[in-house]
Amino acid sequence: MTNKERLLAYQTSLVNALNENSFKITGIFSHDGQPRKYYVNPESTNFMMMITDDYDAYEFLEKNGYLKKDMCQFCGEYPIDGTFKFTEPSYGIKLNICSSCHPQGISSSSNFQNKGCMLVFIIPILLGLSLLLMF
Ligand SMILES: [Zn+2]
Repeated sequence: MTNKERLLAYQTSLVNALNENSFKITGIFSHDGQPRKYYVNPESTNFMMMITDDYDAYEFLEKNGYLKKDMCQFCGEYPIDGTFKFTEPSYGIKLNICSSCHPQGISSSSNFQNKGCMLVFIIPILLGLSLLLMF
């Protein structure tokens, strides 16, 4: 089994578990405005980001033992010992990844950090506004 085959089988098992338990992708809607089911895109490298955007979905997978700790969440490398981690930006969830994905993890995390930076600006503005409105 290649890493890619292992990864796709793993992602399919996660997607099936989420869809069987009525989880929907956060913030993505189909043409008719319905929430979208989880899916596997073999070309996508940020599959886990789709899941970790919904903390409840992640927690469900974690609690029920669907998440593999000994496999790279990005490329399917197996086994790994958990030395290298990717911290996703929404909730600070740490994902085990392999050493060769680790540099990529850093660069893709800096892309995602834009979202985090926005929050750093938006939260004080919202706090400021709510303080203004109180007076
Ligand atoms: Zn990897």
